[in-house]
Amino acid sequence: MYQYKEVKDHVYVLSLDNHAPIAAALAAFCAEKNILAGKIIGLGAVNEITFRYLNPDTMKYVDKTFREQMEITNLTGNISQKDGKPYLHLHVTASRSDYTCVGGHLLEGTINGACELYVEAYPDAFIGRRQDSETGINLYQF
Ligand code: FE
Repeated sequence: MYQYKEVKDHVYVLSLDNHAPIAAALAAFCAEKNILAGKIIGLGAVNEITFRYLNPDTMKYVDKTFREQMEITNLTGNISQKDGKPYLHLHVTASRSDYTCVGGHLLEGTINGACELYVEAYPDAFIGRRQDSETGINLYQF
């Protein structure tokens, strides 16, 4: 699903396999390395991507899938923990063939080409999550 190299202590460069699901691959990597706090930055190309939008008025999630070849101009993410397990929060901006962009909270995306990422882990940090009763969102709990 991925190859990686530790370039310095707790800093990894990842190359995800072509056609891999990005979010699942990152989750598998964090589980393998037991990363419970950290940051992610990356780029790549996809031919399918699903974003999740939370409508704050209805408190309903709306998922939308785009099926076309796009460049990931930026993937930004953070890693925390919920119930003792890695919890990833990922956002993506992706550009179409006409150079317009779509973006949002990443649910899942399928690589078509490459996906190159840096993951920096903070093994001594506790960055927890708890579900907020007002918003329903899993907010940070320090
Ligand atoms: Fe989000």
